[in-house]
Amino acid sequence: MVSEKIKTSLAPCGLSCEKCFAHVDGDIRRYSLKLKEKLGNFDIYANRFETLLDNPIFSKYSDFKEMLDYFAAKNCRGCRNEQCKLFKDCGIRICHQEKHIDYCFQCDEFPCSRTNFDKHLYKRWVLINEKIKKTGIEQFYEKTKTRPRYV
Ligand code: SF4
Ligand code: SF4
Repeated sequence: MVSEKIKTSLAPCGLSCEKCFAHVDGDIRRYSLKLKEKLGNFDIYANRFETLLDNPIFSKYSDFKEMLDYFAAKNCRGCRNEQCKLFKDCGIRICHQEKHIDYCFQCDEFPCSRTNFDKHLYKRWVLINEKIKKTGIEQFYEKTKTRPRYV
């Protein structure tokens, strides 16, 4: 039986919800909130530094801030709790529930054509689930838990 800790972290497709930028408790959101707090009113200083340091990099601060605000605002509770906020067409969420299994690698139809993933994501899904099948979910989780999601 797969532990709740692993199921909270890894979605039924095998990808990490916990490391997704949209996850409410994920590091990306957490650090974005922290960085926003630490930067305070940097807008004013960005304007000044552009002139004072004669460095045009500071003119890009508003774009950077927009991205940071976006990361800080996202708040998905993960695929096992709600519909994926990024990939609304995902076929796995409903399918794994109907089949009463925790992960696609456990399914006798894997690899199927129900994911609705694009080519890139489909390839990644197959690779991940084959790896889990080979090593076991606990070992896969331990080996990948500190790796970034976006590799
Ligand atoms: S369900 Fe989708 S949006 Fe939500 S944390 Fe998982 S991958 Fe991200
Ligand atoms: S049929 Fe496909 S999407 Fe559904 S659980 Fe099996 S492998 Fe996953």
